[in-house]
Amino acid sequence: MLPRFGRHWAKWTIAALLLGLAGCEPEYQSGPPLALPHRPLEESSAPAPAPGPTPEGTLTVHFFDVGQGDATLLAGPDFTILVDAGRHDRNDVVPHLRNAGVESIDLLVGTHPHADHIGQFARVFEAFAVDEVWMSGDRHTSRTFERAMDAILESDAGYHEPRAGEVFNIGSARVEVVHPRTLTGNLNHGSIAVRIVFGSVVFLLTGDAEMEAELEMLERGHPLGARIMKLGHHGSKTSSTESFVHAVAPEVAVYSAGAGNSYGHPHQEVVDRLAQMGIAVYGTDRHGTIQVITDGSTYSVEPERHDAIAMGAE
Ligand SMILES: [Zn+2]
Repeated sequence: MLPRFGRHWAKWTIAALLLGLAGCEPEYQSGPPLALPHRPLEESSAPAPAPGPTPEGTLTVHFFDVGQGDATLLAGPDFTILVDAGRHDRNDVVPHLRNAGVESIDLLVGTHPHADHIGQFARVFEAFAVDEVWMSGDRHTSRTFERAMDAILESDAGYHEPRAGEVFNIGSARVEVVHPRTLTGNLNHGSIAVRIVFGSVVFLLTGDAEMEAELEMLERGHPLGARIMKLGHHGSKTSSTESFVHAVAPEVAVYSAGAGNSYGHPHQEVVDRLAQMGIAVYGTDRHGTIQVITDGSTYSVEPERHDAIAMGAE
């Protein structure tokens, strides 16, 4: 589904880096830019791109309940995108994907190398053909990261480190990369953030990007508007600043967090802020797996557990 490009070269680069051939560079460097079929986003003064024609078929976005971690599936009529693959100490992502009817994956995104996001990458590669994988380019010394990179290297998947401003069409979805522009070595800050457009229904996923990254996205002038926003960093107060949420102007916000997690996610002030803005908030700790089903013009939110109503709607 995705155009193939330079994957052997890219893999060689990864292998060289894993072998330490990159010398004493402290940061995980990406290679020279690959020849990518992308076009730059409009300048900040330009209006946001008009919504595309209403696509045929249905997109179901599954915010899986994977405990204190992230795994979001976008199962469209002609595309399958998985953003993050759960925690290293659980084995729930492949069962979730099978239950959702996934047969293969066009694009697997590891927003950043923390173990609650790429934890089950290897299991996903064992279970499904993956056409292309995106990683931020930051590296981690953990065994989980090594295992994920090994799985990528051993697979036939293309590899890319996307940067803000790149835009891809994947089936009837448009994927706009809104972060990062450059890496700082702070793994949360380097989170890949994407705006996924399906007709007039837009989703914004920002991984564990925090306020500094949100500010960069605002300052670069990306169109950020989205009807459904996944709250950055599991609903932490270090993310979802008022100015950022204002720019996104979502109708619905979803966070992924484990019940009773030791971080206190989601932080109450974030939930309160969104409620005051009239935004309905759903969380995997309260609602289980949350599905958003859309035909590209309207959508419905289908939580696994209906006993807890959306917080902003209370
Ligand atoms: Zn996380």
